[in-house]
Amino acid sequence: MASPGSLQALNARIERCQLCPRLRTHCAEVARVRRRAYLDWEYWGRPVPSFGDPGARILILGLAPGAHGSNRTGRPFTGDGSGDFLYPVLYDAGFASQAQAVSRDDGLKLTDVWITSVARCAPPGNKPAPEELRNCAPWLDQEISLLKNLRVVVCLGRIAFDGLLAWARRTGRLNARAGYTFAHGAEYALPDGLTILTSYHPSLQNTNTGKLTRPMFLSIFQRARALAGPKVKIEPLQR
Ligand code: SF4
Repeated sequence: MASPGSLQALNARIERCQLCPRLRTHCAEVARVRRRAYLDWEYWGRPVPSFGDPGARILILGLAPGAHGSNRTGRPFTGDGSGDFLYPVLYDAGFASQAQAVSRDDGLKLTDVWITSVARCAPPGNKPAPEELRNCAPWLDQEISLLKNLRVVVCLGRIAFDGLLAWARRTGRLNARAGYTFAHGAEYALPDGLTILTSYHPSLQNTNTGKLTRPMFLSIFQRARALAGPKVKIEPLQR
């Protein structure tokens, strides 16, 4: 059983969240209609819970579930083009047990990585509204507070980066965001020692055009591993 403060319990609460009527309606409608290729699927259709290793030192922060990816499968970056680009890189970098991610029961395990997003319901046009991002922010606050070993946050795209900076300001880690500019491969150390790494999002728009290549993406996660440091030196914290 998950304890009340655990990441599993938090995920269970997130799955029941109804704070954004526009997004809940959209996800349910996508799940009802489905895409022709997935007519034999029962879509998840709910807020997508986070996924990974509760002892992770690296957090991957994405934008939002894809309508026919995570909103269908119920796991971040699972079942769409973004995930088909992300998970093979995580596998090559040693964070994933396999390169394929197709469903919640495909056997994939992550080590030292936790994956979440700044919005947990698929938005129309992949664009959550500012108020929807604000609605979802408290989930991120709670989640990060439960990731006791966290050392590095990899922000996938500008909106995720903005979301993390907003978290840093809400929690008193940052007074102002001046000097924090989004660029692929940018690296910032927060005063409390947490490092932010930024990457272009692995959307098809970026990967199909060559704006984000596999070597570029792999180097982000190799750098994240180096920043996290040797795992043997990490002492587990009391929860
Ligand atoms: S986007 Fe976040 S806050 Fe809005 S309904 Fe989904 S889980 Fe809740």
